[in-house]
Amino acid sequence: MEKRCVGRFAPTPSGRMHLGNVFAALLSWLSPKSKGGDWILRMEDLDTLRTKAEYSALLRDDLRWLGLHWDAETEPQSARSAVYDRYFAQLREKDLLYPCYCTRSQLHNVNAPHLSDGTYVYAGTCRSLTDKERAAKTRAPSWRVMVPDREFSFFDHVQGLYRENLSTDCGDFVVRRADGVYVYQLAVTVDDGESGVTEVVRGWDLLSSAPRQMYLQELFGFDHPEYAHIPMLMAPEGRRLSKRDQDLDMGALRNRLKPEQLIGVLAHAVGLTETAAPISAEELATVFDWSKIHGKEIVVSELGKLY
Ligand code: GLU
Repeated sequence: MEKRCVGRFAPTPSGRMHLGNVFAALLSWLSPKSKGGDWILRMEDLDTLRTKAEYSALLRDDLRWLGLHWDAETEPQSARSAVYDRYFAQLREKDLLYPCYCTRSQLHNVNAPHLSDGTYVYAGTCRSLTDKERAAKTRAPSWRVMVPDREFSFFDHVQGLYRENLSTDCGDFVVRRADGVYVYQLAVTVDDGESGVTEVVRGWDLLSSAPRQMYLQELFGFDHPEYAHIPMLMAPEGRRLSKRDQDLDMGALRNRLKPEQLIGVLAHAVGLTETAAPISAEELATVFDWSKIHGKEIVVSELGKLY
């Protein structure tokens, strides 16, 4: 029997949802709903300085307005550090962790740029420090997990085959920051794994995170989910849409449009429908198919009906 599809939407509540977030929410909802599956909502509020409960409340209200109803909302990440502690301890027991004392400027000077996303490949500077050298350090360390010299590959529903050798393309990566806060890669792996997520749909900018998450899934004993990294929505001047683009946030969009109009425009832009005619999320789920969806960036100024 085929496994029940469980999708999820994992927004960071650091502002009002903008059109790019709506797009990720919609596609992550459509795919499981087209197969009679479940959709889970999770607030990724690890960064407690940027995230606010009022934004989470607005997010839920915006999703309801769009007709994107969730089957469950799991605990927000800010409440789960004791859970993450247990997974961190597993890595420690496997002897896969080491403290890293590198400063930000050392990281940028010593390490080679990462091939795909402009971050760096960690050269392993702190991997082989002796106990004595560690004891002599005065700053609090972050913690890195050692990665294997092995390729991780998967077939993405939108981007096709993606592969990365974690050792040469990424290097040992941080799982807990020096201030004790767990990083996204660890939290997302634990949360998706514990909620039984079978399909991860999110923006293309997170494509290169998938191999790190697949590695952690392996270490924690979770199955790999399927992946779909969807095209980014771009502002006219070629930058990614962000929370700064207030004329395209949900506050402004809800004043101008009905949910079916907004969904119709997005569905057409990504290749799901022949025209941009208004359509509800429910109706769209009946024609949803990953094979119709293209991976090209979408420039919002070309989506005329939004203004
Ligand atoms: N919290 C991330 C964001 O809002 C999404 C992470 C994910 O879907 O894995 O961009």
